[in-house]
Parts: sequence; C-alpha cells; structure tokens
Amino acid sequence: MKRKIYDVVIIGGGIMGSATAYYLKRTAPDLQTAVIEMDPSYSRASTTLSMSNARIQFSFRPNVQISQYAFQVLENFEQEMAVNDRKPSIGYRREGNLFMVNAEGRIPAENALKMQQDLGCDIEWWTSEQVSRRFPLYNPEGYLGATFGPKDGHFDAYGVLMGYRAKAISMGAEFVHAEVSEITKTGKRITGVRLNTGEDIGANNVVNCAGAWCAGIAGTVGVLLPVQPVKRQVFVLDTKVKPDGPLPLTVLPSGMYFRTETGGLILLGKSMPEDPVGFSFSWDDKRFYEVLWPELAEFVPVFESLRLIRGWAGLYAMNTLDGNAILGEWPELEGLFLANGFSGHGLQQAPAVGRYISELITKQSHALDLSIFNPGRILENRKLSENGIV
Ligand SMILES: Cc1cc2nc3c(=O)[nH]c(=O)nc-3n(C[C@H](O)[C@H](O)[C@H](O)COP(=O)(O)OP(=O)(O)OC[C@H]3O[C@@H](n4cnc5c(N)ncnc54)[C@H](O)[C@@H]3O)c2cc1C
Repeated sequence: MKRKIYDVVIIGGGIMGSATAYYLKRTAPDLQTAVIEMDPSYSRASTTLSMSNARIQFSFRPNVQISQYAFQVLENFEQEMAVNDRKPSIGYRREGNLFMVNAEGRIPAENALKMQQDLGCDIEWWTSEQVSRRFPLYNPEGYLGATFGPKDGHFDAYGVLMGYRAKAISMGAEFVHAEVSEITKTGKRITGVRLNTGEDIGANNVVNCAGAWCAGIAGTVGVLLPVQPVKRQVFVLDTKVKPDGPLPLTVLPSGMYFRTETGGLILLGKSMPEDPVGFSFSWDDKRFYEVLWPELAEFVPVFESLRLIRGWAGLYAMNTLDGNAILGEWPELEGLFLANGFSGHGLQQAPAVGRYISELITKQSHALDLSIFNPGRILENRKLSENGIV
C-alpha cells in the first residue's frame, strides 16, 4: 500500500541528489520532494571520497560552461546555503590547476585553451621555464609547457554536500534513510520506488542520483546504463621537503595528479586501465611504492624522500560510452530522470546539473541548456568528445 505520493523522489542523497533537491525547492517550493539515501554517513559515496577539485580545463565546451557556473556558485555558496543565519563552511581555495603538456598533447591543449579563452575563462599558457620559475621543485624537462587555470581550486566536498542537504531540508525536502530496491512503473510511466523493506513510495517523477550504484537501480525498469563502478585510489603523503606555498592540482599527461592539502601534506592519485570494476574500497600501498612514487619523484625530485601516511579508495561512476554525464528524462519512460555517469568530474558539475534537472522536471526554461547530455544518445550510441577526463 502506498503511504504518500511525492512529486519527486530522488534516489541517492550524495552531492547530485542533495543539489537536485535544493534546486527543486528553490524553483518550485510546493513540490513534495523526498531524497532516499541508504547510508547517511556517506562513507562510500564518491562525493566524500573524491579529490574535491573544480576546474575550467575541459575540452568539451558544455563541460567548461558547467564549471563556469560551479565557480559562481562556490564563491557564494556559504551565503546562499545559510540556514537561519548559520552558514556552512566549505574551505574553497582557488589554488589553481596546472596541466603539463608534452608534444603529443600540444594540439588538443592549444585547441582547448582557445575555446576556454573564447568563453572568457582565465587560463594561461606557460612555457617549461615559467613552470620552473613558479614551482622550482618541479622538473618539467621533456614537457613543452603547461596550461594553468589560476581560478581552479578545491573545496571541502563534505561541507558542500551538507550545505545543499541542510538547505534543502530547511526548505521542506524530506531526507529518508532507506534503500531503494527497485523503481516501479505502469506501462511506460514511472509510479515510484520500492524499498528493500517491501514498502512502496509513490512518485510522479523519480531521479536516479545513485552514483556508482545507478546502473543496478536503472536496470530494475529495464534501462541499461553504460555506467560501471570503477575503483580509484588516493594517497596521502608527508614529504620531507615542504613546498614554500600551495601546489596547484598538477596533472601529468600520464594521468597522475597531485596537490597540496591543508597542512602541507600531498594528495596523489592516478586512474589506471587495470583499476577494477566493482564495489571494492580497499587501497593498495604497493601501487604507490612501485608505480606512482617513481613517477612522482621524477617530476618532483625532492619527493624522493617522503612517508606514505594513508590512502583510500572511492568509485568513479564511469560512463563507458564517453565518460560524460547522462542527464535528463529517459526517452522510453515518462517520469524517469537520470543524473548519472559523471566519471571523475561530478562534484564540480553538481550545481549546474541539479539546477538543470530541476528545470526539466518543473518545465522551466534553462539557464544553461545541457540537453546535449541527454540520455537518448545512449540508445543512438552517440558519443560526446572530452579529452579532459582524468
Ligand atoms: C578518487 C576520486 C576522486 C574524484 N575527484 C573529483 C574531483 O576532484 N572533482 C570532481 O568534480 N569530481 C571528482 N570525483 C567524482 C565525484 O566524486 C563524483 O562524480 C560525484 O561525487 C558524484 O556524486 P553523486 O551524488 O552522483 O554520487 P555519490 O556521492 O556516490 O552519491 C550517491 C549516493 O546514492 C546512494 N545510493 C546508491 N544506491 C542507492 C539506493 N538503491 N537507495 C538509496 N541510496 C542509494 C549512495 O549511498 C550514495 O550516498 C572523484 C571521484 C573519486 C572516486
């Protein structure tokens, strides 16, 4: 028996689900909205296990525009999410992103730089000498130079998540601690969700914000999403020589990336082809010692001396079609909305995506039209091209 019919039920209360709930309540305050989250500690959510970076440096124009919007939102986030004058604190630090460029990457980097500059982004081309001058610990030998985004940076992802969540609750969204076992439908219309307790919850619209778990839940109504959970690892390092100031998120063409964390520690990661598919959260120090450390020490020779303090693993919801977001209503099921497949860049996309999904559901015009990411492209096998997926 159904206990209540919501206008919108959101499956998953990570950053996508919480942002969507907030923008829905901001767009249409009377909309009965529930967010169903199976783990309110968020211990396995990608949101809390990420590198918390926001960057303008993408090669696909809409991804750049999404980040431009994120920058605006993050700048004003603490004020916008205040509840009864209590502001969340998100530690937004615009310490830059530096993408090293080798000969092979030169043309794509130049094309991306031009497009970003055309959009008004603050992005600079640096020669290797400029890299050395600015960051003397680096050894840019063998690189042509780098692109530097001084406005890129990082923030406290948990703080942003809690900010959206608390604000959405203050505006009347309900957050329910429960696990959705399936989506329900009649014919080609969504009717709600069923919990693993057997309880049915009615809804006119269901939004799949289940992160790395999204394909399993979509499959319960026959929707085959090309999204897999892929394990990614992050390592925390205490180096003997501390940089004089913050190091930007520095990305090497091999895919290795690192940045300083508050207190002078270094966070380091690298997506690798052999990263396993599945719901595994163990991390492996051998990967650091045998693979990543030698590569790091070649680029930053003084980091030959360091201590691995700890590591963690989180999941990319990897879109195996093209690595980009899947956004909008599933063409074959009325009322089923998807905000899935963000791979390694979903945190910075949450503000634009949450707002866009809320505009779709409430049939408002779009501040930023993201229809290019529509899920119909999966049925048509139409890929979007983005070189900047780390
Ligand atoms: C190591 C790592 C580094 C990253 N670095 C960055 C970065 O620097 N910048 C960036 O922008 N992005 C980064 N990302 C990607 C980013 O973290 C994700 O794209 C983003 O957090 C996705 O948010 P989400 O809300 O979709 O998923 P999640 O945060 O995983 O939230 C999904 C939620 O759904 C819940 N759920 C799932 N199934 C059910 C169910 N059946 N019933 C109820 N609840 C359910 C889960 O418990 C979870 O809380 C990184 C990811 C990883 C793993």
